[in-house]
Amino acid sequence: MSAQVKYLWTEGAVGERVGPDILEEGDRSRPFSDKFWSGVEAVSLERLKEIQLHRLKFLLSFTYERSQFYRELWDSKKVKPSDVKSLKDLAKFPIVTKYDFEKDQAARPPFGTAPTSPPSQHLKYWQTSGTTAKPRIWMDTRQDWENGILLYSRSLYGHGIRPGWRGFFAFGFPPFIGFWLCFAATEAMGCQVVPKGTLPTAAWLQLMRNIAGTAPSFLCSTPTFAIRQMEAAKEAGFSPADLRMDILTLAAEPGACVPATNRLLTQGWNAKIHDILGATETSGPILFSCEKQAEMTPVSDHINIDYFIVELLNPDTLEPVPEGSPGTTCVTSLGRYGMPAVRFLVGDYLRVDERPNCGCGRKLPLAVGGVAARTDDVLFVKGIKLYPSLVETSVRSLAGLGVEYRLQKKDNQVTVLVEADPGVPEKEYPELAQKLQQDIKLKAHVTLPVEVSPPATLPRLETKTPRVVKG
Ligand SMILES: [Zn+2]
Repeated sequence: MSAQVKYLWTEGAVGERVGPDILEEGDRSRPFSDKFWSGVEAVSLERLKEIQLHRLKFLLSFTYERSQFYRELWDSKKVKPSDVKSLKDLAKFPIVTKYDFEKDQAARPPFGTAPTSPPSQHLKYWQTSGTTAKPRIWMDTRQDWENGILLYSRSLYGHGIRPGWRGFFAFGFPPFIGFWLCFAATEAMGCQVVPKGTLPTAAWLQLMRNIAGTAPSFLCSTPTFAIRQMEAAKEAGFSPADLRMDILTLAAEPGACVPATNRLLTQGWNAKIHDILGATETSGPILFSCEKQAEMTPVSDHINIDYFIVELLNPDTLEPVPEGSPGTTCVTSLGRYGMPAVRFLVGDYLRVDERPNCGCGRKLPLAVGGVAARTDDVLFVKGIKLYPSLVETSVRSLAGLGVEYRLQKKDNQVTVLVEADPGVPEKEYPELAQKLQQDIKLKAHVTLPVEVSPPATLPRLETKTPRVVKG
């Protein structure tokens, strides 16, 4: 059976490969057609759901057999893998959060009891920031990594990137997953890679400039750092468009799907703007935008449902929301076996169209309007939900303001901190603050105090920027 699915790395390699072969995947190391990387992208929603159920049944049995953490948890809730006859039955299983894994690793250091395989079977080790004293360790087996490469290849190909292109990685290569997997996929697809690493931003831009225009190119970055690179290019006396990026692949924060941010980056870089989204615990990418969606406002993202079951829950009750309603995400990762994520609470806020009619031809459902926010970031102001991305839209649409912002939370009060553009005299700051306050009120139905500071007052980060800060 495996003769019909060709793997990239694990064919004949040391280490085990488990789980069902999905025949439509065909040769995973090269494109299926000029439109799709994987044959699975061409199948119907019904077939995608069959694949989900097939993989889910295997994952649950395998995990129950090998992972003490899950076995004890499921036994305590009196559920077992054989209870799953349809996709709906997954909801009988308990939700897990990062705190559960933190507790497990604290009690049984260093790896806890969740892994299904001994350390020798793992290929990559990550450290994610813990909310308690100790950071968490997270691992991928060789097979998990290969599945991630497949999904990234599919997503980058969906953006319009082709073998022979050049990927610029504005990424410091820290010990969390970040763009590591995207980097590996870029190499595996037959593209070139240019890593930034610890190079200062000005030197990085110079490197990009030195080789600009010698291959079709894409930039991998967080949206915030993509904006920072634009500013730094202008400070160095040239236009970011001179760097000749065709595509920006943005991750870690909502980017392409926030219209004002998208507009800013599209115009500044003269490039197509795309989003990609995953999480260390589930691997990724779970979502990606296609070439057709990149033309829309707002951009929506396809969901790789053959590898992820994304449930939408009411953030307060953690019960499923009615079909078509938005909810917070709980993800089961169907191609990650070393350290499984079964009903892992990711906490992105999404609305899903299961049967979109996307011009690209994929039947993969769409997260409509992309990711509005991480549920963790949602603020409650006078009983009203406030998403940072909504404030972002106002900040980045208003002339005279810079693009950076923070929401400073102190007691029950939230203050919006922003910067004026260079050249705006300080006497105009109060008027700018008032305009922004009115615009936020119009969009979010809440009146927030606004403080305008001079340019470059707020810190710029290469990694995900926390928008909500304690005052
Ligand atoms: Zn599409």
